[in-house]
This record gives sequence, C-alpha cells and structure tokens, in this order.
Amino acid sequence: SRCSPITFFCFNSEGSLAGGIEVIIQNEEDKTAPRCPHGPALLFEKTGNGEEKGRRFYACSACRDRKDCNFFQWADEKISEARMLAREEQNRSKMPLFSHQEYKFVSLPLEQRRFCVDCQLLILPEERATHAKHKALSEDTTVQRLKRPSLLLCPLDNKKSNAQYLFADRSCHFLLDMLLGLGFQKILCVGTPRLHEVIKLRNMKGKSPKMKSLLLDIDYRYCQFYGQDEFCRYNMFNHHFFDDEEAVTFFQGFLREEEGAKVVMITDPPFGGLVKPLANSFSQMAITWKNQNKGQMPMIWIFPYFFESRILECFPSFSMLDYQVDYDNHPLYKHGKTGRKQSPVRLFTNLSPKDIILPEDEGYRFCSVCERYVSAGNKHCPKCDTCPSKDGREWRHCDECGRCVKPSWRHCSSCGHCALPDHPCGQSQTGCFNCGSQKHKLRTCPKKHNKRMIVPGGRGAPGLLKHIAGKSTTKNKRRRTVT
Ligand code: SAH
Ligand code: ZN
Ligand code: ZN
Ligand code: ZN
Ligand code: ZN
Repeated sequence: SRCSPITFFCFNSEGSLAGGIEVIIQNEEDKTAPRCPHGPALLFEKTGNGEEKGRRFYACSACRDRKDCNFFQWADEKISEARMLAREEQNRSKMPLFSHQEYKFVSLPLEQRRFCVDCQLLILPEERATHAKHKALSEDTTVQRLKRPSLLLCPLDNKKSNAQYLFADRSCHFLLDMLLGLGFQKILCVGTPRLHEVIKLRNMKGKSPKMKSLLLDIDYRYCQFYGQDEFCRYNMFNHHFFDDEEAVTFFQGFLREEEGAKVVMITDPPFGGLVKPLANSFSQMAITWKNQNKGQMPMIWIFPYFFESRILECFPSFSMLDYQVDYDNHPLYKHGKTGRKQSPVRLFTNLSPKDIILPEDEGYRFCSVCERYVSAGNKHCPKCDTCPSKDGREWRHCDECGRCVKPSWRHCSSCGHCALPDHPCGQSQTGCFNCGSQKHKLRTCPKKHNKRMIVPGGRGAPGLLKHIAGKSTTKNKRRRTVT
C-alpha cells in the first residue's frame, strides 16, 4: 500500500519505513522543532526518488496513525501567527484534565471511591455527576484493586501507537530476581507499568529485598495511581517530560547512585516504534546517568529479535539474549495452556550475557563456548563458532552459504542463498538485503563491510551514541543479520 506523507509510518516487510522516508536525528536538540500534544515533533526526510526527494517535514513522534495525532508540517513551511496560536490552543486542550498533583484520589475513604469504566478514570465525589450516565461506575476500587492498576485499566489496544502488552507474571519475576541477583536496587521502568506494579507488590509482601522504581510512560492514566515521586508522564520517542522541570529534576535524582544503590533502565517500547528515535532518547538518559556516576548506564531494551541489527547499529555494545519474554494479553506471544508459542521478544542489553542466568526449568542451558545462556534448541555450531539460533528453534548449517539458517529454509541455487522453499525465486522484491538499494544485490553491496552504515547516509547521532557505545567485541563483529 502506498503512503501519503502524513500516514508515513507504514512499515514494509523488512520493518523499514515505507515510501522512502528517513527519520533525522540531530546531534543538538532541535529547539526549533514545532510541538504537537506529544511534545517536540520529529524531523523526517523523503529519500525516495520522487519529485519531493530530500524534502523534510515534521510529524508527531508518538503516533503512527494520523487518527491519533495528525500533526504535520513541512520543515520549510512558514507558519502564521494565527496558526501558531491555534496550535498552542490545540495542544493545551489535549492535556489531561488534571495536573499530576491534583489527583487526590488515594487519600479518599473507600466508600467515596469510584472508577468510570467509560472514561478509564478514577473519579472524585464532586465529579460523579459528570459521569452519571457512563457505563458502570465500578465500586470495586478497593485498596487491593488499586494496587494493580494494570488489571483495573483496560490495555489500550490501538495497534499502531499505544499498544499495551503486559508482561506475564513469570517474566516479571524472572526479570526482577535476575536484577536483584546482579545487585540492582533501583529500576527505571520506561514503558513497563506492569513491572513497576510488581516491584511495589513485592516490596509490600516483604519477601524479597526492597527495590525502588520510577515509571516513565506516556499513558497519563497512571497519574491517578502513582505520585510524582514514582511516575512521570514521558514520551520515549523524543525524550520529552510532560511535567517539565519538576519531573526532570526528579528523574535526575533517581539516576544518582547513592550509597551504592545501583540503577538499571528497563524498557519495552511499542514494537512498531522507530529504533533510531528510541535509541536517541535512551542515549540521552545515559548521558544524564553518566553526569552523576561512573561507567555506562546499565540498560535492558525489550524488543523483537528481528530488530537485532537495527538495535546493534545504534548500540554496538549490546547483545541479544535468548530469553523469550511472555505476555499476558498478547494474542500471539502468550504462554498458554495449550503449550508455549514461541515469543519473538528478547532482551537487548549492555549487561554481560554470561552474568544473566536464564531459568533452566524453562529449558535454557549455558553454552561454555559462547559464555552465555541459550535456548534449549539453540545448538552450538562449531563452523560458525556460535549458538546461531535467533528464534529458539534449532538451526541448520548450510555449507554453501557458510552460515546457519532457519530449519525451514533450503538452499536455492538460482538465488545463491538459502530461503523458504516457496520464496519468489529469482525476483528481487526488496533489492539489496543490506542497504535496501534496488541497484544491486547483497553480494555486491558496497556498504556490506561497513556495519554502521546500513542506513543510507548514516545520519544517526554518533555524538550522543558514543556515550554508551562501547567497543564492539569480536563476537559482535561476527554477528550477522538473519531474517
Ligand atoms: N510489557 C510492559 C508494557 C509494554 S506496552 C509491561 O508489562 O509493563 C508499551 C508501553 O509503552 C505501554 O505502557 C505504553 O503506554 C507505553 N508507551 C507507548 N508509547 C509511548 C511513548 N511514546 N512514550 C512512553 N511510553 C509509551
Ligand atoms: Zn502528536
Ligand atoms: Zn553454522
Ligand atoms: Zn544456503
Ligand atoms: Zn530462489
């Protein structure tokens, strides 16, 4: 399907932006970027061969569907005073009804608490009249219930932007036990409300050592449950804090490692999200961290395995772990009664893989050659000198390709590489697998040996990324992108 400039967030089968559009991340913060209700817009450039090639425009950073936010402005467009004022008014009108401080709900006695299902809001006694005609003013807002906002609120299932997929309990406990084991006491939860909630529950139960948690998320509904000391409304595509200074100060304080309390950032962004702006935001966090501590900020980025090359492009010191993250409400990735469906979601981290012990009762085992835990089916290949599987199934070495491939692939002599048996043989639908050019194939790609140049023009933010991008190891260099 063709994309108009505004509905530009369409992905092709390779997960790239369709229609020849590239996001531009500038080294310096772009103070001139216009704002939509989601903070500063992102800058894009048309890179296709059309007549508008090279033309730049701003669009909403958070929403990939124009129904959610249709902000669009050509970069060279002059905006009249009147339009500017109208825009500011529009941005104000899209703000949540209350500021964070104004939610006094938690201090109400039980019998005065109500939750409006239609509005997804906890409501105060004086607001009740406004919601009288709405569906079920649920009275089930007991203390118990308020402790699990992720069960009370219905997940936003908007496919494109806010899609909320909540971790299964066992994935939460695995993550938290693992982080505790590594000595982390402070968890910066970026887009992981369920994890934040489980940390609080564990603290209350008092069975495991206390952890501190700060939740950053764009979903303002969490303001109702958490005070300013544990929740900031934040946009992870442009590193924007909605409550400005106060929130920023608090965030900075949280990153300071006092009395040896180590901090780790853990994020589970919406899977449709663009890797580059996300990496840019996480780099900015790492800079804030580095201003106050020594070394590199420990990070875990949860994302599907087929984004491996994109993430490593931005963060060469990261590795992908074999652990499969399970979700409660995801139609595909849920660990159900009928046996486990393989989840494609993995952990990407700058923590040392050999220190991260994956649960043996779920079949993970330690590979002493690779020095990391791997999936049960991921057999070490002596020819590749690695445990090659990305999807958890056992892969097979192809001598002609000189690498391991998915079990379902067969070597195709006319294409010169392995592919699915029913692949469109001999047709190049997507051009070069490495850089996307239609002018050559992977084998003759001039950029093949330059791993960091996969994106045409390489307009990343090297200045920023340097802060967390350590030296890539030989293992990293050897790693290949397999799709
Ligand atoms: N698995 C996680 C939830 C991940 S779903 C858990 O169980 O805790 C993605 C989360 O990112 C949601 O909470 C959603 O509200 C949040 N989110 C979506 N877009 C965002 C943005 N632009 N900035 C910050 N958070 C965002
Ligand atoms: Zn917007
Ligand atoms: Zn092999
Ligand atoms: Zn082959
Ligand atoms: Zn073929």
